[in-house]
Amino acid sequence: MSGAGTGTADIAELLRARIRDIPDYPQPGIVFKDITPLLADGPAFAATVAEMAVGHADVDKVAGIEARGFILAAPVAYALNAGFVPVRKQGKLPAATYAQSYALEYGTATLEVHTDAFAPGERVLIVDDVLATGGTAAATAELVRRCGATLDGIVVLLELDFLQGRAKLPELPVRALLTV
Ligand code: AMP
Repeated sequence: MSGAGTGTADIAELLRARIRDIPDYPQPGIVFKDITPLLADGPAFAATVAEMAVGHADVDKVAGIEARGFILAAPVAYALNAGFVPVRKQGKLPAATYAQSYALEYGTATLEVHTDAFAPGERVLIVDDVLATGGTAAATAELVRRCGATLDGIVVLLELDFLQGRAKLPELPVRALLTV
C-alpha cells in the first residue's frame, strides 16, 4: 500500500487539504465536511486507509457506519485481513437485526446490524468519516456489545471537537486522524 512512511502530522495536513467545508448543507447552520476530494486522490486515500488501520492488527471485524463509513471501513478491513460488517439505517438489512435508536438534534434515528454479524468474543473496530455529537458511534458501539463482541476502538477521519462527541464514548479508545 502506498503512503509508507507518512507520519501522523503529515496525514493530518493531507486531510486538512482534502476535506472541504460546505456551509449550510444539508441545512442552514451546518458546515458539512465533504470527503470526496480525499477519496478522489489515490495516494492520499491509500495513505489514509493505512493510517486508520494502524494499531488494530488483532481485530476480527471492522464495522462501517452507513453510508460514508462503508467507503472507509471496507478497505481498512481488507488491509487488516478482517471481515467487514455494515451498520445500516433502519429497514435496510435483510436478515434478523438488533436495532439501536439515538437522539438527533430533532427527533431520533435508528441503526441496525444483523444479529449474527459478530461472534461472541470477536474484536471489532468501528470506522466512520466524522465524529460529531457522538450519538452515531455510541449507538454502533452498543450494537456491537449486544452481539457479545468486544470493541477494539473507534477510528474516524475527522473529529469536531466543539461537539464533545467523545463524552458519549467514555470507555472506548477513540482516534481521529484530524481534529478541528
Ligand atoms: P454524530 O452522531 O452527531 O456524531 O454524527 C456523526 C454522523 O453524522 C457520521 O456518520 C457523519 O457522517 C455524519 N455527520 C455529522 N456531522 C457531519 C458534518 N458536519 N459533516 C459531515 N458529516 C457529518
